[in-house]
Amino acid sequence: MRKIEHIGIAVKDLDLSCELYEKLLNTACYKKEEVASEGVNTAFFKTGENKIELLSATNPDSPIAKFLEKKGEGIHHIAFDVEDILAEMERLRGAGFVLLNEQPKKGADNKLVCFLHPKGTNGVLVELCQEIKAK
Ligand code: ZN
Repeated sequence: MRKIEHIGIAVKDLDLSCELYEKLLNTACYKKEEVASEGVNTAFFKTGENKIELLSATNPDSPIAKFLEKKGEGIHHIAFDVEDILAEMERLRGAGFVLLNEQPKKGADNKLVCFLHPKGTNGVLVELCQEIKAK
């Protein structure tokens, strides 16, 4: 794993939170994107080298809706940038971590992603992400 790619924050109202984070970080949101397969709307911010992803639910069955119900708003996951997601998934599987998806899936912001079960990572939902390179 190379670096923290972004930190994901679960929010109830994406538009309100976007305004809030624009004020907080003093920078405009650079991308809003729906990931229909995950039932989420996302908004991304850059602060220097770092990124923040805000996530809100698009339907009551969304993992974000369930997270908000259980834990309320707050830090939802930490995403690590990886060069080769398949190799990293293989390595982590071998080391006994539980992957939430067996194959990488298409995430927001032009990434292939895989999540690790928080039960195996001290309660932190970990996301691996690999940039999809233009061919
Ligand atoms: Zn993420």
